[in-house]
Amino acid sequence: MQNQIETLEVGQFKLTIMCDSHLLLPVKWAFHGIKQQHWSSAVELSSANSFRCPVNVIHCEAGPHSVIIDTGIGEPHPTRKIYDAEFSLQQVVDLKTNLSQAGIEIAAVTAVIFSHSDWDHIMGATVEGQGERQPFFPQARHFIMNGGWEHDEVTGAVDSVANIHLSVLKKHGQLQLLDKMHTVAPGITMIPSPGHAAEHAHVRLSSNQETLFCSGDLFHHPIMITHPDWIPYGNDRENLLTSRQAVIAEALDLNAYLFGAHFPFPGIGKLVKEHDLVKWVPTIIGHC
Ligand SMILES: [Zn+2]
Repeated sequence: MQNQIETLEVGQFKLTIMCDSHLLLPVKWAFHGIKQQHWSSAVELSSANSFRCPVNVIHCEAGPHSVIIDTGIGEPHPTRKIYDAEFSLQQVVDLKTNLSQAGIEIAAVTAVIFSHSDWDHIMGATVEGQGERQPFFPQARHFIMNGGWEHDEVTGAVDSVANIHLSVLKKHGQLQLLDKMHTVAPGITMIPSPGHAAEHAHVRLSSNQETLFCSGDLFHHPIMITHPDWIPYGNDRENLLTSRQAVIAEALDLNAYLFGAHFPFPGIGKLVKEHDLVKWVPTIIGHC
């Protein structure tokens, strides 16, 4: 049976994971330069050229703080069209419906964290209203690391998807660009982890000695935790490898949960080390 919402408690934090959509990722991109025989047993192909992965959105209720980490693909609109086609995008349940079903009030969300400025993580942050785009979360401060989209703004790439959505948040005074590690709320910390994107950050959620890492797009498939040197095409190899190794080491050390934005729903698992190989083992088996 399908269920697009799962919950988990980490210390005193209540986490809700929502399946927003699915997309097809090209294997040539994800496993660039790696022979198929090495990854074929771990990767379920949807076609000869791609594998299907979800876009998972996670919410953390931490006392008075209501925090969303990445916002999914948002409503259908012109900026989404190109991705609908290129990645065979399939919405599962839109963010508004998911939040309503999970009992999360949109106006009560206090913070939105972006792991980076790629379209599948930011498009849900704005919505059409009164003839122009508006922040979807009207009361939230939005956080992203410096080093990504503002380059588009400066160079005049006004049509870039990041520019379209993040500039709305900036105009409304709701966007905060960060230069370094930042604690968004007690126990909720953004940590720079460049490589997939210059502005990429992961999020550490810690409460009562329990920890969960939201790894964003550090890994597009769990097999990349076992093989952190399998670097997607066009990513910054040196930085991504360093960022991945740091998160893997800390997650092992703390026996922490590790959540992947594109891991099989709900994307929550723990790391186990067997004969020097680290594996991600799902804690919750969901279906979406
Ligand atoms: Zn992504």
